[in-house]
Amino acid sequence: MNALGKQTRIWVIIGLTVAIVALLSTDYAQALLKSKRHFVQHSIDARVRYEPGAEQYADALADDLSDAVSRVEEIHGVPFKKVFTVYMCATQASLNEYVANPLHFPVRGTVPFGNVLIAPSAFHWHGEDTHKGTLRHELSHLLLKQYLGEIKNRTIIPVWFSEGLADVACECAGEGISDETANRAIMAGRRFIPDTKNSLFKIKRASDYGVDYPMFHRQSHLLVAFMRDTYGLAFQALLADIHSGTSFDRACGEHLNVSPDTLWEAYIANISQVN
Ligand SMILES: [Zn+2]
Repeated sequence: MNALGKQTRIWVIIGLTVAIVALLSTDYAQALLKSKRHFVQHSIDARVRYEPGAEQYADALADDLSDAVSRVEEIHGVPFKKVFTVYMCATQASLNEYVANPLHFPVRGTVPFGNVLIAPSAFHWHGEDTHKGTLRHELSHLLLKQYLGEIKNRTIIPVWFSEGLADVACECAGEGISDETANRAIMAGRRFIPDTKNSLFKIKRASDYGVDYPMFHRQSHLLVAFMRDTYGLAFQALLADIHSGTSFDRACGEHLNVSPDTLWEAYIANISQVN
């Protein structure tokens, strides 16, 4: 009995060792373990750190950070709760390694584990310097995560709302899609469905709605901006509730008195009136 127990323990230890080694060799584990100790603190704004070679990019972020924080806090109606760092990566490859993204996915910024990472691509996105917008966009995501934590942020708010809110905060130019083009698609039914929540394991993306990524962002931006302009104080109350952990679905019903699936109808009625 004792011998069998000992043998079992040995196999359990071997099994656990193999599992840990396998886990550590995944891209996700490598991302978690990748050190940020080589980032240099910026001399003007200590919240900004940069990899050697990215100093000029970091200068621009240090110049913009205070304004970006104010803008995001104004849109959300609440202040940041915790200190954070903005890490300026020297290469796209470096940023992608921190979030286990393949290199062909040139993400401009991201918010893993309470901090912001910015890639050089934010400074020359299809020939345009988008770093101000990227910084504000990511800070909007960060602020929500500070209030809700990673899991609630992923589950109680639909992606279209958090992306649209981030784009309202950044006053992004629209990913190359004009309001007219987006409105034509919306009126023709080529639009995302305003889901009320999200799944922890399956985040809905543009392709789930049959629209491409820039169109999804543009439409999300337009719909959230419409909600903000139309509902004013009620929209701010909705945001306050969300920051307290109330689900988007419930907050929407309580403060806007509309069901999210009727939002597009209200939006279309509004643009038809204006045009
Ligand atoms: Zn985003």
